[in-house]
Amino acid sequence: MLQPLTKPAASFDNLLETPTITIAHGDGIGGEIMDATLSIMNAAGAALKYDTIAIGQEVYLSGITSGINDASWETLRRNRVFLKAPITTPQGGGYKSLNVTMRKALGLFANVRPVRAFTPFVDCRFPNLDIVIIRENEEDLYAGIEHQQTPEVVQCLKLVSRPGCERIIRYAFEYARANGRKKVTCMTKDNIMKLTDGLFHQVFDEVAREYRDLETNHYIIDIGSALLADQPERFDVIVTLNLYGDIISDIVAQVAGSVGLAGSSNIGANVAMFEAIHGSAPDIAGKNIANPSGLLQAACMMLVHLQQPKVAETIQNAWLRTLEEGIHTADIASEAYTAQRVGTREFAQAVIGRLGQEPQKLSPIRYPETTQPIHIDIQPAKLANKTLVGVDVFIDWNEPGRQAETLGRLLETLAGGQLQLKMITNRGVKVYPGGFPETFCTDHWRCRFVSIHSHLDPAHDRMEAVRPIHSKDITDLLDRITDAGLEFIKTENLYQFDGIRGYSLGQGE
Ligand code: NAD
Repeated sequence: MLQPLTKPAASFDNLLETPTITIAHGDGIGGEIMDATLSIMNAAGAALKYDTIAIGQEVYLSGITSGINDASWETLRRNRVFLKAPITTPQGGGYKSLNVTMRKALGLFANVRPVRAFTPFVDCRFPNLDIVIIRENEEDLYAGIEHQQTPEVVQCLKLVSRPGCERIIRYAFEYARANGRKKVTCMTKDNIMKLTDGLFHQVFDEVAREYRDLETNHYIIDIGSALLADQPERFDVIVTLNLYGDIISDIVAQVAGSVGLAGSSNIGANVAMFEAIHGSAPDIAGKNIANPSGLLQAACMMLVHLQQPKVAETIQNAWLRTLEEGIHTADIASEAYTAQRVGTREFAQAVIGRLGQEPQKLSPIRYPETTQPIHIDIQPAKLANKTLVGVDVFIDWNEPGRQAETLGRLLETLAGGQLQLKMITNRGVKVYPGGFPETFCTDHWRCRFVSIHSHLDPAHDRMEAVRPIHSKDITDLLDRITDAGLEFIKTENLYQFDGIRGYSLGQGE
């Protein structure tokens, strides 16, 4: 549980001349790439003071299952800027991902992951690859709400909110404008997840109307990912949900040359966190072979955020010069373009040795003297007229033969009052009334009861002539179900919002 700060945080607009940032060396290769990054930043004259916190494996194994202690939370919230090396999440139950917890607890809603090609110096088939992936950072399946409901079935809740969509989508458009980008692409799977991904796509279309200066389009995530792997040069800025963003940013970084090259920022209204996109790479830890570039790129994003863009520019130009001269870590080494294969420390020394120099062939980086942070204001959603029209009751039922017909006939006798049994599905497929013997059934049955005064018009997503039901209709039904010896494992209320159906149909309904 987060407590109020004992010392107030300064406002974002009022950062000190020499800000104190929080750093964490993390696990695996974390310490090596953090040391390399700090040595380059210090040599380049970054005006920073550091508070170091311990997070990750050492904290997990000390018995703190969150991976972070209260004093570290306080340091993070006081300093508000965090440069973080990757951490290892121990395998197995009981440990939540600290990365996900930090992004959500600190309100870091926007995960910004720029990836570009450095051809020919880093091997990549796409010389014009230059993409920024803007990933929603707090919602989706990463809410981490999972349950085992029956011996056979587990579930993970996918939560998507209108303000969550609007914030990240507006951020993507504002980012595109502020950075001279031309196109914003949305990726979802709304042909299948019509409510969750459908909301993201719908909000994208709504917000896009306010940004007529930018080209926009939408891809279903599967073909979008395929095109990213095969024709990434057609993309500019991509905005997408949390899980898809996580996956496609690794794909794009690898296509560009190495996951070790890409950095990211995690931006919130009050706190920002900067990290490499890759993990702690335990397979190469302690060997002085990791590429520190991802964390270094993240550190440069941080310097821009802290209004030290010229220091970031100096570092990035020296870094580009180092790549051009063929001084490469193992992950990006190639026969054609590597003059010297170096370790983590030696790579950092090579960058430091080129501070003040610019690349000769790759375009040098140029930042304006000052940059404006992106502020996103969103309005609360307008109130909708919400009507309770039914309930899905999930039942753990494992009678021999698992005949849906048997369960259906029993439930027909338990319906009544304002509720009628509409259908039963198993893993989303309608198995009663009707259904095929070929359909495989688990022990997990979703039994839909709807108002007896309803008529669904699926073509228009409308329920006609509905008389609302009441919570008491549902609790009475659950009592009858329990008295009949059945075990309900959860319920989901079925609502209409302004007359529009707020739940999906069963497959085959
Ligand atoms: P990983 O990104 O750590 O490694 C994947 C592959 O890329 C490995 O072969 C690794 O050697 C290589 N690689 C990664 N970074 C590199 C670099 N800088 N230079 C050269 N090669 C590099 O992914 P993983 O192995 O799936 O995960 C390892 C651990 O990291 C897990 O515990 C995972 O939970 C954690 N993780 C942490 C973060 C984070 O802290 N933000 C992100 C992803 C994964």
